[in-house]
Amino acid sequence: GVRPLIAGNWKMHGLAADGLTLARAVAAGAAGASAEILVCPPATLVAAVAAAVQGGPVAVGGQDCHLVAKGAHTGDVSAPMLADAGARYVILGHSERRADHHETDAVVKAKAASAIAHGLIPIVCVGETLAQREAGEAEAVVRAQVAGSLPDGFVAAGGVVAYEPVWAIGTGRTPTEADIAAIHAALREAVGPTTRLLYGGSVKPGNAAAILALPNVDGALVGGASLVAEDFLAIARAA
Ligand code: 13P
Repeated sequence: GVRPLIAGNWKMHGLAADGLTLARAVAAGAAGASAEILVCPPATLVAAVAAAVQGGPVAVGGQDCHLVAKGAHTGDVSAPMLADAGARYVILGHSERRADHHETDAVVKAKAASAIAHGLIPIVCVGETLAQREAGEAEAVVRAQVAGSLPDGFVAAGGVVAYEPVWAIGTGRTPTEADIAAIHAALREAVGPTTRLLYGGSVKPGNAAAILALPNVDGALVGGASLVAEDFLAIARAA
């Protein structure tokens, strides 16, 4: 099978001192891990974290990029800028960006195309809201997001899909193992055998092994627990 990927999404957390301490602790504990380990700090720390972990097993990613390479877009960061800063991956279409910044599937698709064009590996996030799950629409929502958010060349570029049910993010709640497996089976059908499929949403050391053992779960996208080096490394070791 594919090599698992354990990705930490730091979200809007981390000043230089604690961010670099966290990155160094992850790098020190990552040696010899069988999973690929990725940290995605805020944009302000991508270059410094990349420099701090350079030459080791830990990769660095951004949390978003603009859909064009440069231009009059105050406050935005482009894919080639992230690559230039040392990033190898970029998270795109996280539900917090879809909600806070009104990102549509079409925007996420254009961002992923830019990421690929500039040598970054996109991690495209999909996932249903609680209302959609309760209405029995989870699988249809996720299928539609995948159909609308992945550009041509996504699979060939090694693109990654992360299933993050919105109601499981930061809540301590997770879907049942059967529900995760069902969504991941649908994702597998959509993207084929080689694309890594991550689960995200309240992944912790205590539930990681069971989630990562499910069929078609090729890794995890971790929020809160990725801010504590020993917790993040425990999740990575469970892969
Ligand atoms: P939590 O692990 O804090 O639930 O966050 C998940 C997430 O949104 C990762 O992108």
